[in-house]
This record gives sequence, C-alpha cells and structure tokens, in this order.
Amino acid sequence: EKIYGVDRWGKGLITVSPEGEISLNDPAQNSSGPISLPGILHDLEQRGISTPLLLRVSSFLESEIRHLNESFADAIERVGYKAPYRGVFPIKVNQQAQVVDRIVEFGRPYDFGLEAGSKPELVIAMAHRLSKDALIVCNGVKDAEFIRLAILSRRLGFNTVIVLESPKEAETVIEVTRELGIDPFLGVRVKLTNQIGGKWQESSGDRSTFGMNTDQLLRVVDRLKEADLIHCLKLQHSHLGSQVPDVNDVRRATSEACRYFVELTREGAPLSHLDLGGGLGVDYTGEKRSSDNSINYTVEEYCANMVETVAYAMDEAKLAHPVLVTESGRAVVATSSMLIFDVLETTLYDAPDAPEVATDDHHLVTDLAAVRGYLVRDRIQECWNDATFYRDELRALFRRGVVDLRQMARAERIYLSLTAQIKAMVAASDTVGELEEQLEKVADVYHCNFSLFQSLPDVWAIDQLHPIVPLQMLNVKPDRRAILSDITCDSDGKVDQFILADGISPSLPVHSLPEDRPYYLGVFFVGAYQETLGDLHNLFGDTNVVTIDLRADGGFDLLHEQEGDTISEVLSYVEFDPADCVAAFRKMVDEAISGGSVKASERKILMGAYRDSINGYTYYEQPR
Ligand code: PLP
Repeated sequence: EKIYGVDRWGKGLITVSPEGEISLNDPAQNSSGPISLPGILHDLEQRGISTPLLLRVSSFLESEIRHLNESFADAIERVGYKAPYRGVFPIKVNQQAQVVDRIVEFGRPYDFGLEAGSKPELVIAMAHRLSKDALIVCNGVKDAEFIRLAILSRRLGFNTVIVLESPKEAETVIEVTRELGIDPFLGVRVKLTNQIGGKWQESSGDRSTFGMNTDQLLRVVDRLKEADLIHCLKLQHSHLGSQVPDVNDVRRATSEACRYFVELTREGAPLSHLDLGGGLGVDYTGEKRSSDNSINYTVEEYCANMVETVAYAMDEAKLAHPVLVTESGRAVVATSSMLIFDVLETTLYDAPDAPEVATDDHHLVTDLAAVRGYLVRDRIQECWNDATFYRDELRALFRRGVVDLRQMARAERIYLSLTAQIKAMVAASDTVGELEEQLEKVADVYHCNFSLFQSLPDVWAIDQLHPIVPLQMLNVKPDRRAILSDITCDSDGKVDQFILADGISPSLPVHSLPEDRPYYLGVFFVGAYQETLGDLHNLFGDTNVVTIDLRADGGFDLLHEQEGDTISEVLSYVEFDPADCVAAFRKMVDEAISGGSVKASERKILMGAYRDSINGYTYYEQPR
C-alpha cells in the first residue's frame, strides 16, 4: 500500500482502506469515512455501467472551489487587503456541461465567474446565471461578432470583460461600441517578460505568443483615449503560464504585473481589476518540489504570495487595491475526475514450466539452461548478464536461420523463467543497485481496456504524469511489475512512467490477476484538459462518464450518466453514414447468397453480428 505513495499525492481525497481498497473521501462532510471505489464500481456495474469509465466526483470539485476561494479570503483578511477576490474558471480546461454547470453552482457564493477563450466558450458562459458580481473574462482572438455579443450581454447584467489582445482588436471594439452605443468593460492583456519555469515556460516571457508589449499597450491606451473610451479600461490581465512549479515565480510575475498596473494607471487608465491568469499547479506526484509534475507550494501559499505582493506594490504606489482575479483551471478541476479501467490480459516475463533442453538443441540453448545451475544470490548480476547474452546470441542465430522456431521458443521460455527467478531474488534482497534498474525495464505488460489517445492525451503528448494505482488488493504485496498498454494498435499507446512513494519508476507494482473478479486500475487527477484534447485514434470513442456525489452516510448519489460513444457515433464523426455501412454490408451478403457461397439462412446471423457491433461500445466488452 505504501509503495504507491497515496498518502503523499492523495490530498486526503484518495485514501486506502484497511481492506486494501482505494477509497474516496470528502474531508469536508463525510462523517462515516471514505467510500470504497471498487464498491462504487460494483454498484455501477449492477446498474449496467461498465469500465472503461470516467468517474467525476462532484464533492471533490466543490471542495477545490471552496479551498481556492477561502484561501484567497483568508489571505485578504490576514494581509488587510482592501478589495475582494473574484476568480474565474477557464472553460477550455474542461468544457463538459456537467462540470461547468457545477462550477457555476458551487462558485456562486464566492462570485466565481467564467473565462471564455473563444466564441463557443462565450456562448456557454452566457447560458449560465452567474452571481451579480461574477466576471466573464473573454480572452483570445475576437471578431466583431464575438465582441458584439460580449458588449450586448452587459444589458443583461453580465460583467463581461473584453480583454484586448492587440491594437487591431481595439479598433474592432471601438467600431462595435460606436455601432451599439453601449460602454464595454475592457481589459488589456500584458505580456510579462519574466520567464516562468515548468513544462509551459514558453507560454510566459518573450516567446509567449499572447499579450501586448509595452509599445502595443501604449498604442491601445492612446487610441482608447482618442475614441473617448479610456474610462472603460478597467482590467489588466497577464497569464503566468500553466502548472507553475515554483512559487517564487508567482511572486516575480505578480510584481512585474503590478509595475504595468501602476504605469497604466499613471497613463490614465482607471484600472480596478488585476487578473493574474492561470498557473496554480497540482502536485501530481506529491513530492512537494519544484518540478514538471509537482509544485513547491500549497494553495494557501499561492494566494498569500499574490495578495501580499499586490498589496505591497499598490501601497507603495499609493493606489487603491484592485479586485484580484485569477483564472485557475487545472487546480479547480484536475482532482475531480478519475479514469478507471480493467486489465484484459497480461504478457508476463515468466514461464513457470520452463522446458528442459532437447538433445539436438544448439549449444547456446544448453549454456542458457546451465545458468540455472549457478543462480545464487552472490552471482545474480553475472547470471543476468549471461542469460541476456545467450538469449541475444540465439535471437541473432534465429534470424540467420541457424536456430529453428521450436528451439527459439524453448530458449525464450528458459530465459523468461530465469528472469522471474532473478527478479524474485532481487526483490528479496536489499543491495542490488544497477540490476534492479535493469530489471525494471523487463516489466510484464498489462493490457488494459482504455485508449491513451482518447483519455490521457497529455501522457502521450507531453509526458504528463498522473498517479496510477490498482484499486484493490493494496493490503497484499504486489508480486509483479508491469507497464500498461492500451487497446489501440499503436506502440505509443502505453504508460511506462509511474509515480511511486520513492520516486518515478519505469514499471508499476501490480498483482497477478485474480481469476474470479476484474482487476481495476485507476488514473487520478485527469479532470483538467484531458477530455476535449483526446482524439479518436483507432476510433475508440468517449468512455462512459458518471458523475457522483459522496454522501455523508457513506453512500453515493449518481447525479448523471453519459453513455460512451457507440461505434455508429464514432463512424459518423469520420463522415461514414452508419445506415450506408449497414446497406453496403447487406448488399454483399445478398450477393454472396445469390452466388451460392452463403446460405440464405445465414443472412440473419451475419446481419445481426454487424448490427450488434455498430450499436455497441467501442471498447472491449466483457461477456455478461
Ligand atoms: N487563462 C489562460 C489565458 C490560459 O491560457 C490558461 C491555460 O493555459 C488558463 C487560464 C488556465 O491555466 P491553469 O489551468 O494552469 O490554471
């Protein structure tokens, strides 16, 4: 149980029960303790909802929104900051209706708003009844239609901010404003020069593709003055980057943003809101250090640093404290979703019934088998070196036609059984060093029912790490180490980096598959960015999605179920008409019947099989 480091990264939300099961815990309200995740899956299975499955836990979302807003409120009170915090959720981070609707609901007491980076996202934002003081911040490239809707929405009481990204956009705003005769709520996006560390460092500093430099900013300010609209420029925005690993980068960038704020105010812009964008990170590994998948600060520290830095800069410049805005996406939604799938089968580095050598075997097969004779603890490394050498030589001989398929298969089985014995000896001893690392590379392969490209695109694209853990048997010592392969036919469709308590490992400790029940694995903190970045590689579609709420009595409420894509749905995404496919197949069956190669009585069976497939789930379906 300890090897997975659940207590380090689980944030108290994901825990392990004494029965060795991953459990979900809502620390805020769960009086009867954590709820078993395999128990939830069993319940869902009985309702006909099977894995692979994306499980959204509404209670976690609520708890993250509360945590962020209360942390800002606490920092504001402690520092004596004289303006409120009004966060917005960037819709791009998770656009699913079930998520956005709940964020709006949970955020209402805190005047939490939304950020829209495109027209469709603005349309989503405006379909929500936000609180009177909540903001809708519009970033991204905006055409006249976008700007018109944003300005008109002010008539309904929305605080929709148009963040100007360029002098050209300012011209469009001026034109549309004249046409409508309604004052817009304007912002400017400032490009900070401070480079922030981490995976997204290119989204900050000089190489950032967004935001205006000093010259462009002044052009916009002058133009707004000329057009008599400078009184509308109330917000300054800068995006610090995503998943900022080091809290001191937050301080530095905030301080730089304040310098712009002070200067723009001096230039006559009546700024009242300072928006510091996204960047609040998630400690995926639980290491609490500044690295690509971890952060060296807490939410409380992030908020305190920002509030203190802004207060200090504004006091020094004798300016009123601005309303503080951030656009935290990842930190709000990442923890609330988890991907759960079953292991379908395994390819093991093991051969329990390793064969004896045949009399006509090549002498290298005999040499390989002889390693068994001197396999003792003191000579493990030597045995591993020898076995690997003989196996590789035999592979070369097979390729040249010297060794036949049966001999090669015998050699491979002997090698596998030796590997298994060496691994067992290494696992039982303390001082093995390099060999342990070498053996981690010959991990078993656990073939799993999910698509990396559909459900975990950042793992494939940018080596994002997520905690991955078996959901059951955590009170039993894992007896194997595996990498995970997905169900696509793509060799990239694998996970071979895992977060363990003692660091990042190229294999995951797992158990031999139980015979009588499924073996589930969970991938945690997948709520941010993964859902809409996923693609249809091999035409594996959306998985089933279930939203639940944890109840105080130890049960859960099923709030919403979205069935995964059927084959017919994914066909239509790639412009095949499923009805045409059925018709084409039927025609071929009828022609085969006319030609005599298929019996008329087989027509029903053939058509039934085709129709069952086209209506079914795209993933592996377990027989019921
Ligand atoms: N705001 C803007 C303008 C962004 O581009 C992004 C994402 O990169 C965010 C907010 C969300 O950032 P995060 O998810 O790191 O909070």
